[in-house]
Formats: sequence, C-alpha cells, structure tokens
Amino acid sequence: MKDNRFRKENYCPYCGYLCDASTLLFKKNGKPKPGDLSFCIMCTEPSEFDKKLNLIKFDLNSIEDAIERNRLKGIQVQMLLYWEANPDPRRDKIIGNL
Ligand SMILES: [Zn+2]
Repeated sequence: MKDNRFRKENYCPYCGYLCDASTLLFKKNGKPKPGDLSFCIMCTEPSEFDKKLNLIKFDLNSIEDAIERNRLKGIQVQMLLYWEANPDPRRDKIIGNL
C-alpha cells in the first residue's frame, strides 16, 4: 500500500473529517480518479470520488456483485474493529457529531 497526499482538501460527506490523503488498497501507485471509492478513516463510511474528485456519499448496497459488495463491507468492518480496539478521543468527538 502506498499513501498519497491530495493537493485538494476534501471533507467526508458523513462526518466532515478533512481527508487530505489516501491509501491505495488494490493498486501500487496512482492517485484517485472519478468513480474510485474511499472509506473515511474516522467514521469508516464509504464515499465515491466525483468528476471533480470531491467525495460524495456511496451506498455499498448499490453494488450488484455480492462478492465485491461483501469484500468492501469487510474492509469497513476491519476499520471498525480497529477503532474498537484502539479508541481515540479525537475520533469520538468527530463521530459524536454524526
Ligand atoms: Zn467520515
């Protein structure tokens, strides 16, 4: 996995967390492109990059391929398990605003 910094500030459409970097899960290199999915590191909700690379809400249930849908839901579950094992007051403050 490789981390990429964005030049453009982006905010999670669910919790408002400033997202200024991404970690590629399935590619070695590259930056996000329209249609790519993202999970917010704070609230773990899924978003999609629109044509201007803004993050917009994305419903995982809209994915027809059950294997792909469940694979992505599994990523979200792993993130939630991480937060459960590693509580962070900063996250709690952000999530409390949902
Ligand atoms: Zn969020």
